[in-house]
Amino acid sequence: MIHLVAVGLVARPILEFLALVLEDDLAMTCAISPHRIDVSDAYDPMRQQYHSSRILAHLVERENDLLLPSAADPPDQEKILGVADVDLFIPILTFVFGQAQLGRRAAVVSVYRLRQQFYGLPEDEALFLERCEKEALHELGHTFGLVHCQNYECVMHYSNSIEQVDLKSNRFCTACARLLPGPPFQAQMRLRGNRL
Ligand SMILES: [Zn+2]
Ligand SMILES: [Zn+2]
Repeated sequence: MIHLVAVGLVARPILEFLALVLEDDLAMTCAISPHRIDVSDAYDPMRQQYHSSRILAHLVERENDLLLPSAADPPDQEKILGVADVDLFIPILTFVFGQAQLGRRAAVVSVYRLRQQFYGLPEDEALFLERCEKEALHELGHTFGLVHCQNYECVMHYSNSIEQVDLKSNRFCTACARLLPGPPFQAQMRLRGNRL
């Protein structure tokens, strides 16, 4: 199960969109957590950006609150994705689109640099949402143990510019897809779906 958590003041429709598409893309249930992560102490006044490692640390510290009581997947398939609308950085980079714990539970993604507006261009909602989907999938891929992929169309391809985000697809290549929760898990999901 994927638990989406608002980080700061991210707009609800973005979370709702991600909950829908990620459920489909990953064949996992996805729910929006009622909690919100405060970002004020991650702010760096010198850089006027937010330290993404600090936000990730908050998600990890609060994981027991953030996991919904109804969640019943194997522990390694309970993931927490923080969704932020502030500019994120790590000290060695100008900015990051997101950050994740490799092969563990938590990840954070920012939608701040995914809008056309940020690049001085007219807004394009469909393009914006597609970018949100790609970056969310990318960070979740890391939590499933996936590393960066050489295939430039694969969603696990590294991107440090918006052009690179647009170049890749919103899909995992076959090699990466094979490392995601396997067919038995997906079959189990389908069965659960049929009972509803
Ligand atoms: Zn990455
Ligand atoms: Zn790949």
